[in-house]
Amino acid sequence: MSAVCRVLATALVCAAFGATPRLVLSQALQPHQQLAREIYRELVEINTVTGTGDTARAAEAMAERLRAAGFADDDVHVLSPAPRKGNLVARLRGSGARKPILLLAHLDVVEAKRADWSLDPFQLHERDGYFYGRGTGDDKFMAAAFVANLIRYKQEGFKPDRDILVVLETDEEILDRNGVGIQWLLKNHRALIDAEFALNEGAGVALRDGRPLRIGIQTSEKVPVNYVLEVTNPGGHSSLPTKDNAIYRLAEGLVRLSKFEFPVRLNQTTRAWLERGALLEEPQVAADMRSVASGELTGTAVERLSSKPAYNAQLRTTCVATMLEGGHVFNALPQTARATVNCRVLPGEAMEEVRSTLVRVLADEQISVTPTWTHVASAPSPLDSGLLETIERVSAQFWPGVPVIPSMTAGATDGSFLRNAGIPTYGHSGLALDVADVRFHGKDERIPVKSFYDGLEYQYRLVRALTSLR
Ligand SMILES: [Zn+2]
Repeated sequence: MSAVCRVLATALVCAAFGATPRLVLSQALQPHQQLAREIYRELVEINTVTGTGDTARAAEAMAERLRAAGFADDDVHVLSPAPRKGNLVARLRGSGARKPILLLAHLDVVEAKRADWSLDPFQLHERDGYFYGRGTGDDKFMAAAFVANLIRYKQEGFKPDRDILVVLETDEEILDRNGVGIQWLLKNHRALIDAEFALNEGAGVALRDGRPLRIGIQTSEKVPVNYVLEVTNPGGHSSLPTKDNAIYRLAEGLVRLSKFEFPVRLNQTTRAWLERGALLEEPQVAADMRSVASGELTGTAVERLSSKPAYNAQLRTTCVATMLEGGHVFNALPQTARATVNCRVLPGEAMEEVRSTLVRVLADEQISVTPTWTHVASAPSPLDSGLLETIERVSAQFWPGVPVIPSMTAGATDGSFLRNAGIPTYGHSGLALDVADVRFHGKDERIPVKSFYDGLEYQYRLVRALTSLR
């Protein structure tokens, strides 16, 4: 069996794959898969690079697809707050028994230069079992799957028990810095996108060597904050050094900071991450994870876990020196010494508490501590057992025996804006990618063809289950 055949889903496709793969594959596709692939191709081939591309064109193209499938004008809105900036809001009407659910994806992508890539980033290429192109993984798979599935529900006459909202937004890749994406929608069209909860990017299915390891559901994000530490001094000639030196003072403070660790604090997500993640670990790590989850927040188990950066980041707020400068000439005592410290703060922790902790640990009143930048903070979305249970039930049809693990990311998405607006948001794509082959934002971005069709069907069944009273 060829590698391609192992990757592809259906035996039918594998049997005939050798000769004319593209043709055979498209013949083997069912009509709804064919449509999803066509929508995906259209999205990838519209350049939507945040700074220079056209998300309004992409939003309009998706609106056109929906109108052609019979959606009323009232249920399909292209909202364009600025030239080349577009957001789509589409609605499949349900019985209204429950509050709508929101399916969120972003239309914009990060820059991709043809010269850097092996192939044209703004064409969808199907090659060796992968779809290549900018946005194939981040985030046009989700956008295409949501639109294609909405059309499929409509064609099948599916009547959900609540409205299904698809929102395709612009400018996520710059965290909506100019306020034309999700923030603009929340401010100007809140009623149109109001929902009980949202599914977003942020976690998927992790594969290792082709085998599914874990299924992620991201409920929270740490908050990045920068501080500048500074010491000033009158200086003088370097031939007459004094004991009071700006560089030494700052350096000594930084050494104290390097030895400090913020206390371990767990939330509902990280506790569940430890408990469930333990199932996948070697015995010692698993035992440590369980003992921390059960409330042992100091001692050897914490120390062992903290020695691994990925685990340490889940347990506590972290602050680390990332930049350093000082002095102005080789023969003068330094008049300033400055360091940048980047913190990743646990959701729910007060920023002022972080700053006062830094001041206390630096233990030198001559070291000033000034916050210079912070991303919007948001509290974790509650782990509603109904949602988790549905995800477990549906995902077992695709990846049996693989644990569903709640996660907190150390990075940031714009899920924070929705969370702060009172719409709990869960990162959960259903897209299966190898942990060693995630190319988001990088060269030759790709996803496995099998993952596309599996993820498409998974989203179809999951959203159906979430909108059908049992
Ligand atoms: Zn993304």
